[in-house]
Amino acid sequence: MKKHNFSAGPCILPEEVLQKASEAVVNFNNDDLSLVEISHRSQPFVDVIEKARHLALELLNIEDKGYTALFLQGGASMQFLMIAYNFLNTKAAYLNTGTWSSKAIKEAKLFGGLIEVASSKDKNFTYIPKNYSVPNDVDYFHCTSNNTIYGSQMLEFPEVEVPMICDMSSDIFSRKLDFSKFDLIYAGAQKNMGPAGTTLVIIKEDFLKQIEREVPSMLNYKIHVEKDSMFHTPSVFAVYTSMLTMEWLKDLGGIDFIEGVNNKKAALLYNEIDRNPLFNGVVAKEDRSTMNATFTLSDENLKSKFDLMWKEARINGINGHRSVGGYRASMYNALPLFSVQALVDVMQELERTA
Ligand SMILES: *Cc1c(COP(=O)(O)O)cnc(C)c1O
Repeated sequence: MKKHNFSAGPCILPEEVLQKASEAVVNFNNDDLSLVEISHRSQPFVDVIEKARHLALELLNIEDKGYTALFLQGGASMQFLMIAYNFLNTKAAYLNTGTWSSKAIKEAKLFGGLIEVASSKDKNFTYIPKNYSVPNDVDYFHCTSNNTIYGSQMLEFPEVEVPMICDMSSDIFSRKLDFSKFDLIYAGAQKNMGPAGTTLVIIKEDFLKQIEREVPSMLNYKIHVEKDSMFHTPSVFAVYTSMLTMEWLKDLGGIDFIEGVNNKKAALLYNEIDRNPLFNGVVAKEDRSTMNATFTLSDENLKSKFDLMWKEARINGINGHRSVGGYRASMYNALPLFSVQALVDVMQELERTA
């Protein structure tokens, strides 16, 4: 049996997706060729990327709303600079909710003026700032929907009169939102969609008109859109596997269904963190992420005992990020409820035997 995989990224994928992906590496479409050795311009692969692009819009319920989906390379981190290169003409507004937002801000500053509308750095990013205002004269507003490292999540998005851009790397396809509020959404595949190597970028076609700067071709959204996400060789394996995960999600009932499962998993774990006197949650309760739960031990002397216990229970990947310490349990779409139960059982066993 597979381990209970709480890894923050790259992360757990559905077993049937891994099975199908591995078969395609050996023999794709029963054509006695591997997925990774055929031309990316051949019809079988063009069908894959077109399906993947379509499924992304369909799952987010923004088909026929003027959006296009791209599978680009360079990770979500490349988007930090690509967004600013293309769209930051004079100044932009950013919400700073953690490490990834801070990195996006650092890159954008190279291209123009930057207004940090609010930051939760004062409390080590353990909450989501509220009651900030976004100026009307900026090129766009950028935010990060889920703070993967600290474990906080935006439950609400501000009403803004400028284009809204969101890094949804670690909670895309996990919950219902009005995705049509956003002009650009991006997500590195390896958190909730597929293997590392591709980044989903969803962009409103009207927004492309805002590009004024001369942008090198590889970093130019317009060119990637014109070339149907095939300006150069895409990451064929990452795109194919992402397509399989999106099909898996659609067959289960889409975001409507998975949101219910994700809420159950998060409630199970947070209830235990709050009930068990040996554990403390890191993030303000109202801003807790359903994807990444961060917690600490109330008594550090129990660390070696707890670490031994969860490893024995075949749990993987709950050590906290090096900048936060403690523990982080990532509960992405493919993580089953019984894996969260396995972790809760270990926490209760620690309480009984400590
Ligand atoms: C992991 C992560 C990134 C960085 O992704 P890369 O693909 O490694 O560049 C950016 N933003 C968020 C929210 C993340 O969780």
